[in-house]
Amino acid sequence: MSIKDKSAVLSLVVPVHNEEATVNIFYDTLQNIKKELPVAINFYFIDDGSDDKTLSIVKSLNKKDESVHYLSFSRNFGKEAALYAGLQHADGDYVAVMDVDLQDPPELLPEMLSEVMAGPYDAVGTRRVDRRKTKIVRTWFSTRFYKWMNRVSQMHLVEGARDYRVMKRQMVDAILSLPENQRFSKGIFTWVGFHTKYIPFEDRDRVAGKSSWTFWNLTKYGIEGIVSFSTLPLTIVTFLGLFSFGLAVVAGIFIVARALIDNTSVAGWPSMATIILFIGGIQLLSLGVIGRYLSAVFLEVKRRPVYIIKEGR
Ligand code: UDP
Ligand code: MG
Repeated sequence: MSIKDKSAVLSLVVPVHNEEATVNIFYDTLQNIKKELPVAINFYFIDDGSDDKTLSIVKSLNKKDESVHYLSFSRNFGKEAALYAGLQHADGDYVAVMDVDLQDPPELLPEMLSEVMAGPYDAVGTRRVDRRKTKIVRTWFSTRFYKWMNRVSQMHLVEGARDYRVMKRQMVDAILSLPENQRFSKGIFTWVGFHTKYIPFEDRDRVAGKSSWTFWNLTKYGIEGIVSFSTLPLTIVTFLGLFSFGLAVVAGIFIVARALIDNTSVAGWPSMATIILFIGGIQLLSLGVIGRYLSAVFLEVKRRPVYIIKEGR
């Protein structure tokens, strides 16, 4: 495929948070990749409130290279916010989203772009396969999560899909037309539709620095994903409630009948305690689930900005 169109522009959105060790390596690597691309390229580094030298490194890149743009948040708003800001500002005909730590293989970029340019795809995404055996627990949870998510949300999330992707302008505009504050990009990318192809690649270590995600963060992220794209948990607790109510009615009739027929015992308090615990447990669980949705609504109606920019060029 050799579609050349030097007048077209590819914007590269790169969220960075405490990445002083990787930004320069990323930039240098991309300079080599750039030569293989049939289009011009510009960078949008989104500094997500780093408190190391990341911002000053990005600024010096901006000084020496006019294709480098940057935005800097007033604090850490999270990768989702950084992605959103990047997509809002990137003005290319094609937009790519990419991590700075080179875990998203830059050498795939030319192939991804030419695939999008040649059609019929509107986007080419990537999916990580064969995760190394060192992260068994994380991998297990992650696989479960994709299975679950697909089951509860009538939406097909591709397993191992990364945010790393190249999209046409039209798809980017569609993504930006979703006004929600709590953005779960993996879901949004799928929700907007369009024809997407996924290219698999081997998992690899980050080139330097360390990941800002903890297991707890990932769990919260997963719950947010489910809450923003599925109401099935609400349905489940409704049925749990109905079921335990039915059980309570049957048990009540049984207990009254037994007391009328054979009025001898005060025995049975263990079963009573069990029933109380059971119903109490279901109630707490249901309240918790409803609480998640309520908090999502609460955060959404405040209409707070997704991020606040402190400076940018
Ligand atoms: N990142 C960010 N804000 C955050 C955490 C991460 O902008 O609060 C960026 C980070 O600089 C990197 C990308 O998101 O470019 C992916 O982060 P990381 O490598 O830590 O995540 P992982 O590869 O473990 O999913
Ligand atoms: Mg990474």
